Amino acid sequence: AQERVFNFAAGPATLPENVIRRAQSELYLWRESGMGVMEMSHRSKDFMSIMEAAEENLCSLLEIPPGYSVLFLQGGASTQFAALPLNLCAPDDPADYIVTGSWGDTAFKEAQKYCRASAIWSGKSEKYTKIPSFGSLDQNPAAKYLHICANETIHGVEYKNYPIPTNRSGLLVADMSSNFCSKPVDVSQFGVIYAGAQKNVGPSGVTIVIVRDDLVGRAQGFTPVMLDYKIHAENMSLYNTPPCYGIYMCGLVFQDLLEQGGLAEVEKKNVKKAEILYDAIDGSKGYYKCPVEKSVRSLMNVPFTLEKSELEGEFIKEAAKENMVQLKGHRSVGGIRASIYNAMPLAGVQKLVAFMKDFQARHA
Ligand code: PMP
Repeated sequence: AQERVFNFAAGPATLPENVIRRAQSELYLWRESGMGVMEMSHRSKDFMSIMEAAEENLCSLLEIPPGYSVLFLQGGASTQFAALPLNLCAPDDPADYIVTGSWGDTAFKEAQKYCRASAIWSGKSEKYTKIPSFGSLDQNPAAKYLHICANETIHGVEYKNYPIPTNRSGLLVADMSSNFCSKPVDVSQFGVIYAGAQKNVGPSGVTIVIVRDDLVGRAQGFTPVMLDYKIHAENMSLYNTPPCYGIYMCGLVFQDLLEQGGLAEVEKKNVKKAEILYDAIDGSKGYYKCPVEKSVRSLMNVPFTLEKSELEGEFIKEAAKENMVQLKGHRSVGGIRASIYNAMPLAGVQKLVAFMKDFQARHA
């Protein structure tokens, strides 16, 4: 039989092997229910218990304080780009965006339709390799919120700490799609955290929103019902049919992360994986190069180029032959990108690093 490969895709991405196997064992028959999870009514007691457990486990993982609601939604982080200004702003309210990569830029552009969004800083002219120093930010005191993308999936730029919003409501909002549950986060610093599940915590189709309760119930009048946080909060994410199977899978991942010792332990593993990969790049005497400023390099997405860029195609092809796939950089930036989310085992990164050294020796 064909073996499983090391999958370095940016998302949908590799899932923990034990989670896949557990799902496989429960696919046909979930406990005493007489059916599989995909077949369950979303209002059945069995499914409700699955969803409640998923939420509870996420709350303990992230130590979500009281006063926040967890929503399991659909539409991806892309839908939240619109939902945020619709829920937090009136049409002529200003909102501040720090743009450290393509996703932050997309969020900013979408928000411009529903409020007066401004990009108060952009790293575009430096090819999105930096995070600004927070002291230098020109925040609008009248802004309803300050938006950041905590980890830029394409450019590999990650916040290591967070700016303090100086706007009137003191609200910081973060897209954590690509580093969600990869390390501990002080949720109380944020008004809203949102993330697509398909990188660190599950399959695509589930979008997780963690929202402070006082921000719920203020949506603009014409907000589509499906984008109104109040509707989903009041109905425990069961206003309409939620992505049931995906939520079940996220629940299995949350349980697995708790069993690994929680996010502090998970972070240690992620730091170690990232370290050996960045060390290999930096120790290659310029053969491989990561353009991102060292202090803000992502633990999750590691972009790099080859000095001999004409060999990048060969690199990707040879790696695939050795069962390491999806290493091509995003089509907008080229080069190589290794996404090494929670579920990428250390062995996968070690194998990649050994391959890089060997490739360099053979194509010096
Ligand atoms: N934000 C970030 C940081 C992402 O990485 C992505 C997806 N790659 C998105 C937003 C868009 O998410 P979705 O495809 O779930 O809408």
